[in-house]
Amino acid sequence: MPHLVTPQLRRLVSSAHDKNLLTKRLPPTASFTVHSHCTAGKHCAMLQGQKAAASSKGPKVVIVGAGISGLAAAAKLSANNINNLLVLEGKNRIGGRISTIKIGDRFVEEGATWIHGADGNPILAIARSIGAKVEVWDYAEKIEKAGWHRKNGRRFSNAEIKMLQEAYKTHLAIIENMIFTECKDEDFLHEHRRQNVLNFFEEVWEEQILRGRTGEEEEILRSSLRLLYHKECQDAGVKDIRDCAIHSFAVYETLQGYDSVLPGGYDKILEPVAREIPESAIRLNSAVERIEWNDGVGGCGCHDNGKKPVRVIYNDLASGRKETVYADHVIVTVSIGCLHRYGPSTFFPPLPEDKTSACKRLSFDTVNKIALAYDQPFWSRDQTAVILLADDVTLGKGEHWSRDLIQFNVRGSGDARWLEGWLCGDHADEVEKLTNDEVGKTCTELFRKFVGPHVPEPTVTHVTRWGSDRFCHGSYACLNRDTTGDDIDNLAAPLPGNKDATHPLQLLFAGEATSRKYFGTVHGAMFSGQREADRILRHYSKAVGSVKGCNGVDSKVLQQLSKV
Ligand SMILES: Cc1cc2nc3c(=O)[nH]c(=O)nc-3n(C[C@H](O)[C@H](O)[C@H](O)COP(=O)(O)OP(=O)(O)OC[C@H]3O[C@@H](n4cnc5c(N)ncnc54)[C@H](O)[C@@H]3O)c2cc1C
Repeated sequence: MPHLVTPQLRRLVSSAHDKNLLTKRLPPTASFTVHSHCTAGKHCAMLQGQKAAASSKGPKVVIVGAGISGLAAAAKLSANNINNLLVLEGKNRIGGRISTIKIGDRFVEEGATWIHGADGNPILAIARSIGAKVEVWDYAEKIEKAGWHRKNGRRFSNAEIKMLQEAYKTHLAIIENMIFTECKDEDFLHEHRRQNVLNFFEEVWEEQILRGRTGEEEEILRSSLRLLYHKECQDAGVKDIRDCAIHSFAVYETLQGYDSVLPGGYDKILEPVAREIPESAIRLNSAVERIEWNDGVGGCGCHDNGKKPVRVIYNDLASGRKETVYADHVIVTVSIGCLHRYGPSTFFPPLPEDKTSACKRLSFDTVNKIALAYDQPFWSRDQTAVILLADDVTLGKGEHWSRDLIQFNVRGSGDARWLEGWLCGDHADEVEKLTNDEVGKTCTELFRKFVGPHVPEPTVTHVTRWGSDRFCHGSYACLNRDTTGDDIDNLAAPLPGNKDATHPLQLLFAGEATSRKYFGTVHGAMFSGQREADRILRHYSKAVGSVKGCNGVDSKVLQQLSKV
């Protein structure tokens, strides 16, 4: 969702005190290893310094997915002495849509990149508590130092570049105003709630960016609107910003304060959370295929000698064997891409209509990233982005996917810099059919057209493939014109819905798409996992606020986990 230059950001960016605070490093944390020889289960994940083994006493909770929401749920349950836990993860790693890979010395983010907002953001708090390096991402500065290029090497004059920078900043201010002021106003919302975001922007752009501009100036500015359009699609994670309505911005809440990145890898925040989960409770390479529950009507009845209402069948992908586990509660954290695609064959009895239709109607399109590494960067040392502005500004279907490669952010530092481009929707899906080399070649052709013939081939091209990832099938959720915050609540509601059910809270639902205020983000996903853990704790009348960690020792990370 929207990345913003908030007043707080401006204040904090200019504060030397905070910069020092953010870059202060504390001792490194334990490393994450997968022990294939683990006694407690073949593909369990273990951490150095992890909690003692999972217990077989107390209510059995199975968590499907070891993304941040699943990990947060397990950590919070364990912190409150519910240790009969099993986290089943289909992939051979934890983290889900938090995925950092290494290309040479570069930490490249395949998924989550920014920590959105500082105030009350548990992800930032965890990063700080482990001493991870945190860098403020100043959107205005990034634009000040971007390199702007036109097709066929035509150069923008300094005055034109200034005009483009101002247009970009005006756009950020328009969004900021819309979110923090206009969307809080009932009359504005009443008038605009179902208006598509592009129409809304076009009106404001005409008024605030294009007004009084003619001739070449106007042409250049119009070409930059395509960049802004693309930026909004990327932030919202949608195919076409025309599908997105203003009320989406009203439902979503922005955490105040600066956005930031973790130069040493976003995945650093996973370890401290996973370490709070009992040893051997996380089982990797375990793809859940069937969940049988009891809806009190046509359900499958109780299993495991009549004690446990839910049966979970998963495929141990290493051995190919089907395994069965019985549970009192199952927290489902898979993406809505997976829920939509595999839900009908997974749940028996099927999920109720309000849940499946919410899942189907919420936007969950593909966003992919292209990382390009070079031996010798072709951009200048302090440059923050390479922006390619074509003269033709039309937004049309059937365009070549590379038409949407407009802005490449320069990531990393020193010699370990690389370029990161983003694609959304159909073009993001299209690029998945190509090899990394094919994508790299097209990028080079593009750079040579815009920047000049001297641009070298990248040494490494890496393309993410979130659309065809069988454990994701998309990127992040967004409200569109046909959905409301109530759809998110429907998705999050536990089953069976009947409060008097003999076995309540059999199925619980977490994951970013179930977070009404913070959908599409890492912190939203984390809050959702904690929310479902709290639901179970309340059911057993546990003290929700307890922050006792391993062996009763207070843990800074657990304190963050408990602050919801
Ligand atoms: C390209 C991209 C960029 C992003 N950028 C940002 C950003 O800058 N900032 C931000 O805050 N957020 C960003 N996000 C969103 C953020 O990454 C997600 O909101 C968050 O990580 C989701 O966490 P989760 O636990 O809800 O889901 P996931 O991380 O998807 O976790 C679900 C887990 O379930 C597993 N699973 C699925 N099916 C099964 C099954 N059948 N059996 C067992 N396991 C299964 C998956 O493998 C996965 O590990 C981005 C996402 C993408 C894709």
